[in-house]
Formats: sequence, C-alpha cells, structure tokens
Amino acid sequence: MPTILVVNCGSSSIKFALFPSTDSRQVADQALCEGTASRLQESGQGHLQIRYAGQRHEQALTTDGHAGALQAIVQQLDQWQLLKEVVAVGHRVVHGGDRFRQPTAIDSAVLDQIERFSDYAPLHNPVNLDGIRIARQLLPSLPQAAIFDTAFHGTLPAVAYHYAVPAQWHTQWGVRRYGFHGTSHQFIAESIPKLIGIESNNVRAVSAHLGNGCSLCAIKGRLSVDTSMGFTPLEGLVMGSRSGDLDPGLHEYLADKLQIDIHELTKRLNREAGLKGVSGIGNDMRELLQAADTGHNGARLAVDLFCYRLAKSIASYLVPLGRIDTIAFTGGIGENAAPIRAQVIELLQGLGFRLDAEKNAARSSEPRNIAADGAPAVLVIPTREEWMIARQTLQLFFPPSPCMP
Ligand code: ADP
Repeated sequence: MPTILVVNCGSSSIKFALFPSTDSRQVADQALCEGTASRLQESGQGHLQIRYAGQRHEQALTTDGHAGALQAIVQQLDQWQLLKEVVAVGHRVVHGGDRFRQPTAIDSAVLDQIERFSDYAPLHNPVNLDGIRIARQLLPSLPQAAIFDTAFHGTLPAVAYHYAVPAQWHTQWGVRRYGFHGTSHQFIAESIPKLIGIESNNVRAVSAHLGNGCSLCAIKGRLSVDTSMGFTPLEGLVMGSRSGDLDPGLHEYLADKLQIDIHELTKRLNREAGLKGVSGIGNDMRELLQAADTGHNGARLAVDLFCYRLAKSIASYLVPLGRIDTIAFTGGIGENAAPIRAQVIELLQGLGFRLDAEKNAARSSEPRNIAADGAPAVLVIPTREEWMIARQTLQLFFPPSPCMP
C-alpha cells in the first residue's frame, strides 16, 4: 500500500509518521507507524521510540544528532519492509515568509529560499533544513514536499499583518506578522463545520493552539483573518517558556540591567520567560496546576496570567470576526487541561460562553463540544499536524484524478 512519510524536525527531536493512502487518494485516518527520536543534542543520549503494529519499540541511538536519528528511522522502516511502500516525504517547515503559501515540491531553489528565511526563524528553519537535506540524501529517489507553518496565514488582511513601523522596513526587510501553527489551525478550521453541523462559509471561530508554544487564530469561513504570533513565534500569548507580548521599550532597559546583548536577551525571552519565568518552577502545565492548587504563589500567578491574557486575546477577535460563535481548544494544554479551559471560558462569560462542567472534566481523545446546553460551542479537538502534512504531500504529488468519483 503506498504510504507518505512525514518528518517533523525540531531542535532536539524528530517526530515522524507513516500514513497509508487509500484507493481514493486520501490519507488513512490512522498512522501505520509513528515515533519520536529525542535528546538529539545530548551526546550519547539519543533515544528512538516507535509505535508499530500495536507495539512500542525503543532503542538507544548509536550516532549523535539528526543525521544519525533519521538514518536509524529509515533503517528500521526498511527492516519492517515499510520503506519500499513510501511514495513521498512531507516535511514540516516553520517559516515560509511571504513566498510560500502552498505545499511546495522541494528542489535546490526551494531549499535556497527556505535558507533565506532562516534569518526570520533562526531557531527553527535551519533544523528543518537539516532534516530535508538528510532525508534527500537517504531517500534520493522520492519526491519531498515542504509544508509551511506560516502558509495558512497567507490570507491575513493588511491591517492584521502590518506592524506600525516605517513602510520601508516591510518592503526591504520583510518586517510583518506571519503567524505560525498554521497546519494545526487549518485542521481545526476544517473540523469545526463537521463537528457542529454548519456550512464552512458561516464559521466565525477562534482556534486556540495551546502547547509549549501557544497561538490563536481568528477563522472566518475557511480562512485565517488574524493570529497572535507575528514575525516570530515569540509574539502574542503567554507560552511555556516564551514571554509573548512585551513593551518593546523593555529591550534596551533589560539589556542594560542584565548586562547582556540583544541576542542573549531574545534567547532568554524565548527560553526563560512565560510560565517558566513567572512561576519560577517550570513550564509544564500539569505541574503548575498541581502547585497552584497546593498554594504555590508563583504557579498561581503564572496560571492566572496565562488564562487572563488568553481570554483577553480571544475577546479581541470580535473585531476581525464580527461575532464569535465557536472557540476550539487544541494542543497539549488545550486538549488536556480542563481547569485552564474552565478558567478561560469563565472570563469570557460576557460573550455568552458557558461550559458544561461534566463534559469539560471528562477525558477523551475524541473531538467534542463541552459547552453548556444553549451556549455557543466550545470544542476540544485533538490536532493532527502530521496527518495534515501527509494529506497535503499526497495531494501535491498525486492529485485526485478529475474522473474519480
Ligand atoms: P508542543 O508544543 O511541544 O508540541 P504539546 O502540545 O505536547 O507541546 O503541549 C505540552 C503542554 O501540554 C505542557 O505544558 C504539558 O504540561 C501540557 N499538558 C499535557 N497533558 C496535560 C494534562 N493532562 N493537563 C495539563 N496540561 C497538560
């Protein structure tokens, strides 16, 4: 059965999944095989975990870094006779600037362009590029696609994507808001009409992707019309270890007080701020909720600040949407942290939102509506970024034929 291999390279991990295609050139719902190679930056600590045929396989990685990990993945797939079925590879790429609005077949010109956008996303694009280059070496006969996190936000109107800075900074240097988590928000946008039984064109929803990185997307019809991340994934909401919005006037003051340069400050705002910085104990929402419950003041403040800023930002999307009919939660926190959903929706009562406490507390991996009867929909939708990448890759290289029913 032809399959699509999805590769998602992060700074210290590689997630991958293998999705079969169906007869009608769709991607099957379930991955045939999926896994994660982790701790790739720690010498001798690399670890590979794969789920295949109902079993979990674990192995230590003998070679450091991304190249060794991808090689081990490919070897394992080959041993299980899965490699010969792969017909294309889809890669997640974080930043496509204003050049890439669609899934794109990778060639050397595309690689050069993605490299150019590394300037915009120095933490992400170089590592995505590494993954692509290694995969092209290991699997030279397969077509490979880049699926961009920024692409879904290509429909933002000018008022949503401009910063109030000199126009030349935009034209000359690409300074504008791009937005991220696009593949996840697009999946949510496609899921909402089916879940609540409305026409896609009538959707006026806010999608809240809350993982370690957190972002909102205002969805009008099928399109993104505003989003909370900007030129980089540092803008917007309070996140695991990222500050989100700040007064830009703080940079000079902090660089001076901390005696650090602007590069180091940016690094600290990415890695030492957010829930981690405010709580003083870490960025794991499970631990923070427990600590807040047992009276830890830092954890309580971090959770309260997270919810307050989130609710305030959701409410602001009344402006691009005109009305908000649906809020959809996704990502590790959005899908699992019932107390966070409860606190955010409580703050949004003014817009008519109310939860059914029992539905909110029930654990499930199914998409569901947890709103109180008669109140606007509040959805929990497990995101499926790898599946989306597989589908987009399949459609790029093997478009459904026009005569197919
Ligand atoms: P990433 O952005 O790295 O993909 P995830 O989407 O996996 O991250 O989300 C990670 C976050 O989800 C962490 O803050 C984690 O604590 C939180 N999380 C996962 N499960 C739960 C849970 N049951 N309750 C509260 N938070 C959870």
